[in-house]
Amino acid sequence: MFCPECQSEYESGITHCEDCAVFLVESLPELSGIKWKAVKEFTGYIPAEMAKGALEKNSIPAFIKGDFLSTAYGAKTWDAAGGKAVLFVPEEELERAASILEEMTADEQ
Ligand SMILES: [Zn+2]
Repeated sequence: MFCPECQSEYESGITHCEDCAVFLVESLPELSGIKWKAVKEFTGYIPAEMAKGALEKNSIPAFIKGDFLSTAYGAKTWDAAGGKAVLFVPEEELERAASILEEMTADEQ
């Protein structure tokens, strides 16, 4: 597992980087040169994770940065109810990601 922000490698079982407060990804997309941009802010982890899944279906790499509590218990300690989760995508995919997320929100209504 890797941190998409500082690119540290972690053992499997660890879910987020304590230093950067981001969820780890299984592999680093060619990260060198990618500028990550916040595309949308969510309340809670689950909607952010759903949005990330939708983007990945469209071949857009994404990662979630959230308000983590600094303990050793990983995502379980994260304030899923009230915490803010921000979804990041590469700058060049920002517009495409935003329109996919808009469509997704429209589908829910
Ligand atoms: Zn990190």
